[in-house]
Parts: sequence; C-alpha cells; structure tokens
Amino acid sequence: MDCLFCAIAAGEIPSSKVYEDETVLVFKDIAPVAPIHYLVIPKEHVASSAAEISETNAPIVAHIFTVIAQIAAKEGFADGFRVLTNCGASAGQTVNHLHFHVLAGKEFE
Ligand code: AMP
Ligand code: ZN
Repeated sequence: MDCLFCAIAAGEIPSSKVYEDETVLVFKDIAPVAPIHYLVIPKEHVASSAAEISETNAPIVAHIFTVIAQIAAKEGFADGFRVLTNCGASAGQTVNHLHFHVLAGKEFE
C-alpha cells in the first residue's frame, strides 16, 4: 500500500519524532498551524480515517488519547489544547491513514 504515514511509521521517510511506543508514533506536522502541532498515528494502518473506527480497532484509539494526555501533561499544555481529525477529502483530509492533530501553544477561536 502506498501510504505516507505507513512509510513514516516504518522509518522509510524521516519525521521529527516526539514520542514512540510499540503501537503509536507522534511526530511534528511538517506544516504547523500552531506553535505545537503534532500528529498522532497508530503505527499499523488500522483505519484510513475516523469513519473506520470500530470495536476491533477502538483499543488503539483509546491508547492514542492516553498518549495525548500524557504528552500534554509532560509538555505543560494540558490546560489548553485541541485534538482534531479530518475525515474525508471534503473535510480536509489529505492523508488516508488514521491520525489525530494535537494543537497547542496559542489562543484558539
Ligand atoms: P490531514 O490534512 O488532516 O489529512 O493531515 C495531514 C497532515 O500531514 C497535514 O497537516 C500535513 O501538513 C501533514 N504532513 C504531510 N506530509 C508530512 C510529512 N512528511 N511529515 C509530517 N507531516 C506531514
Ligand atoms: Zn498507512
């Protein structure tokens, strides 16, 4: 499968890594829209978007949100951040590998 985030997870394409464990990778977005802009992905291509979240792959989604909370606490932005996922091209999704944007470090509207 030709998937950019699978290639990043495999280390075939370099990324600015923030956190990694057995199942999850967090790296800096190449085109940040906030002072902190991370992408959180399951290393495995368990879903192309949030529209494919199911009982089967929900545990990795739960783990992703646990990792996000831990990073927010560790990096000191737990009191003000945004998590978002674009689902479908019409919603702005450009990479079809489930991912969550974590944005922090500014005042949001
Ligand atoms: P989305 O548009 O929601 O699918 O998010 C995809 C995100 O991936 C965008 O915010 C891009 O800036 C980001 N992106 C694309 N290529 C790379 C890359 N090589 N490294 C890091 N982030 C990337
Ligand atoms: Zn993928």
